[in-house]
This record gives sequence, C-alpha cells and structure tokens, in this order.
Amino acid sequence: MPSVKVKPVQKTQTAVLKQYVGGQWYEASGPEIASINPANTDDVIAKFRSATREDALKAIEAAQKAFEAWRGTPAPVRGRIVLKALQIAESRKEALARLMTREEGKILPEALGEVAKGNNLLEWFAGEGMRFMGTSAPSELPKNLLYTVRQPLGVVSIITPWNFPWAIPCWKIAPALVAGNTVVFKPASSTPAMAVEVVKVFEEAGLPAGVLNLVLGSGSSVGDVLVQDPRIRAVSFTGSNGIGKRVYSKAGLRGIKFTCEMGGKNPCVVMEDADLELALEGVFKGAFGSTGQRCTATSRLIIHEKVADAFVNSLIDKLKTLKIGDGLEPSVGLGPLVDEHQYRSVLEYLEIGKKEGAVLRFGGGKAEGPGLKKGYFVEPTIFDHVKPFMRIFKEEIFGPVLAVTRIKTFEEALALANDCEFGLTCAIYTQDISRAMQFADRIETGMVHVNSPTIGGEAQVPFGGVKGSGVGEREMAKEGVLFFSEPKTVFLDYTGQARKSNIY
Ligand code: NAP
Repeated sequence: MPSVKVKPVQKTQTAVLKQYVGGQWYEASGPEIASINPANTDDVIAKFRSATREDALKAIEAAQKAFEAWRGTPAPVRGRIVLKALQIAESRKEALARLMTREEGKILPEALGEVAKGNNLLEWFAGEGMRFMGTSAPSELPKNLLYTVRQPLGVVSIITPWNFPWAIPCWKIAPALVAGNTVVFKPASSTPAMAVEVVKVFEEAGLPAGVLNLVLGSGSSVGDVLVQDPRIRAVSFTGSNGIGKRVYSKAGLRGIKFTCEMGGKNPCVVMEDADLELALEGVFKGAFGSTGQRCTATSRLIIHEKVADAFVNSLIDKLKTLKIGDGLEPSVGLGPLVDEHQYRSVLEYLEIGKKEGAVLRFGGGKAEGPGLKKGYFVEPTIFDHVKPFMRIFKEEIFGPVLAVTRIKTFEEALALANDCEFGLTCAIYTQDISRAMQFADRIETGMVHVNSPTIGGEAQVPFGGVKGSGVGEREMAKEGVLFFSEPKTVFLDYTGQARKSNIY
C-alpha cells in the first residue's frame, strides 16, 4: 500500500499580549480578554489582561513626558522613523496579512490588500515630514516678516475599530507622529494582536520611549479617560456612530480637537444605461467583499426597474459560486464575521428584514456546512423590494447583506440615496456623463465613485464622510497632518519702523 503523507496539524500557541507604555511592555491587571479566530473559535490567538483606568493614566503620563523632546525632533527626522517603520512592515507583509485573516476574518487577498494600503499611507506620511511647512505672507507693516509655522498639539488619543486593524492605526498614528505629537493608542478589543504588530514596527524603527503608547483595554474601562483627561489635546476616533457621538460630545465640551469617522449605509445607484457587467462586479465586490464589514461597503442597491430583475438574478448566480469559510483557504471568497457580538447583530437584522416585509431573495441566515460549525459564518443575503421606511434600508448592518430598492427616474434615485442619516461614500453606474456629474454634485457623501464600487481610498486624497458618517477634519492626505497640528502666525518686526503705522 502506498504511504499516505498526512499533513501535520500545526499547533499555534496562544500569545500573551502586553501593554506598551513609556517604552516598556508589561501586563496589566484588568480582566482577561481573549482574541479568538472567528473562523474557528477553538483557535485562541492571544490573550491579554485588560488595561485599567490607571494604566491609561500611566500611558498619558508617559506620552506627556516624551512630548518636549519629540516636538523638538526635526520633522524630517520624525518622517524618517515612519519610513523605517514602513520598511519593516514591508519585510513582514505576508505574516501580517495571515495574522489579520486569523484575527479579523477577512480573506487573505483582502488582508494583503489592507497591509499594502496601510503601507502606502506610511509612505505618504513619511514624506510629510519634509513638507511640514507653514507659509509666508506680505505684511501690511513695513520691514516685517509675516509667516506661519505648524506646531504639534501635544498628547493625542487614537481610538480605532477592528475592521481595518492595520490600515486605520497606520493612517492615524503616522501623521500624529510626523506632526510631532505623542500618542496613546487604544485599538478595538477584538483585534489586539494586530495592534501589537503595529506598535512593534514603530518600536523597531527607533521611536523614542513614550512617543507611542499602547493601551489594550475595553472601551468601557479606558475610553472615557482617553477623551476626558486634561492632558489629552485631541482625539482621533474611528468606529460606530453611537460611540463616535459620545466621543465627540465629550471632546467638544472640553474644547479640544476631534475627528470622528463613523458608520455608513452606502448606496450604489445602477441606472438603466449602465454597463451592467461592470456594475454587477462592482456591487458584488462592494456588498460582499470583506464580508460586508467595511465602513464603505455597498449596503443599498438603488436600481432602475427596467434592469432590476435581470441584475438581481445575475447577482444571485454569482453568490451561488461564493465559497464560505476560513479566509486562509485559497478557494474561500467570504470569511466569517469578526466576533459573536457582530454575528448575533447581523442575524438579528436578517430577522428584522424578514419581519419588515422585504422580499428575501438569497441567504437570510447562518451559513452551515462542512468547516463552518466553529465560526461566525452567515449567508450572503439579498433583500429585494426594500422600502425607505424599513430599518434594513436605514441602519448600518455591517455584514454581507444587500437591500435592493427599485426606482423609475434619476431624480428618484438621487433622493433615495440621500434619504439617510449617513453620508460616507456612494457609487453610480451610468454611461451618461451629465447624470454622473449631477450625481457627484448633489449626493450628500464625502466620497463618490463613478462606475466603480463604493469601497476604496487612496493615501493622497482625503477620506471620510459627512452627516452621521464623519465629524471633524478628514483623514489621509494633507488633511491628515493638518488635523494633528495648529498653525502659529508670527509677526517679526526687524527694524522697529512698524510702530509709526496706525494699522493696529
Ligand atoms: P465601535 O464599537 O464604535 O468601537 C470603536 C472603538 O471605540 C473601539 O476601540 C472600542 O473599544 C472603542 N470604544 C468603545 N467604547 C468606548 C467609549 N465609551 N469611549 C471611547 N472609546 C470606546 O466600532 P467597531 O465595532 O470597532 O467598528 C465598526 C464601526 O466602525 C462601524 O460602524 C464602521 O462603519 C465604522 N468604521 C468607520 C470607518 C470610517 O472611516 N468612517 C472606517 C472603519 C470602520 P472596544 O473594542 O474595547 O469596545
């Protein structure tokens, strides 16, 4: 009998994660939190003792201590440390992506894409160290040099969600550091292992102790202090609308800077003249990519009635070919939801959709089958004939669920697309340039895609939303650094002649 080679089962150890404060790694004393593989809940990736309020205060103190020296470090030198962090991250991108798939659940090609995106952002912000400049202006006064410089704010809090555990910390931490701030970083409790990897690349790149501090702890125990402590000078938050509102209300009351990037309920409009093959690909990717767990996911399809039936049928045919499972398996196209909380929440929305009277065309429940028993898998789902008053039309579900609504005219499509408390991103598929331009002009979102899916962003352009999706300065691009700095205007009278002027 030929010998059969049995692949050894790889035992993975559960890592013990630590807080990073003042350049030291240490274990906190709060309750233990486990990071669990959402595709297989037997796989415990890591554990950590949650930070307490005292740990958060320690981190703020370390950041405060490090601030003077860091603000005095020339901006190009600060940028070069970010460049070094990028080189380290590039050298381990495969390992980072694999860990991301295990911890967050997105399929490996998407995880690789996210690492690449985060690294693009590190590249962009490293260069901002060289461009951290003010302006000069002609003064009304004689012999006066009138100029501005940009200065850091001080200690800033960075609070991030789990769905982009590499890219979002990169796009917040890098500009904060380049602008000369010191940082207390609080990642989501569901993706702590990825957060530790983020901090490690900066530590290895030579960031001085105390400049970046990691507080691993639940939002309910450390969230408030990271917004309310008087030493915190700004808060950069990404997450849900509910928590975001709480954060910006408190930050606003303190009169500090804040930027809150929050949820979305992004519409994709498909008109009757669209390239339907292109639109099909875009809606498929936008709605079901990353298991629908993107702030930019397509969650409402607003489609012309003339093409709706055929389009939805083709979408269903495509979904039938989608393999659900562990994102590390190359054939899998749809991974799990991130954790039990998210799993229960999406299943609840599926029931809400059924009860509200939407027509369930595909999916609608737990995904079952070989290899799916121990993970948080749900079926990709399409609800058709969704009405604007329904909750599944209005509320962010954050799962692979698409609500389809039919329209007769462009004006109706635009009105429905805008009939929403959120305003992050959107898409329109049409071959009529005039319609596309009118849509781009009148849609109430921070980003618009014409003939491409609702998802995506690039380092060199602002990212963010309006209405319930975003409050405060945009992220990425120049705006990313502007948020983390203040201009200072300097009047320099170099002869004393200005005293004769009566302009004051
Ligand atoms: P979330 O529940 O709002 O949590 C976001 C972060 O806030 C986490 O680190 C969380 O910590 C922390 N937090 C919880 N309570 C807090 C409090 N009282 N004070 C301060 N911080 C607190 O959001 P999520 O579930 O992680 O992420 C999904 C959401 O993020 C979706 O709504 C999605 O649309 C949005 N998102 C938006 C963008 C964008 O750019 N617009 C990008 C990505 C995601 P714990 O994990 O410990 O609770």
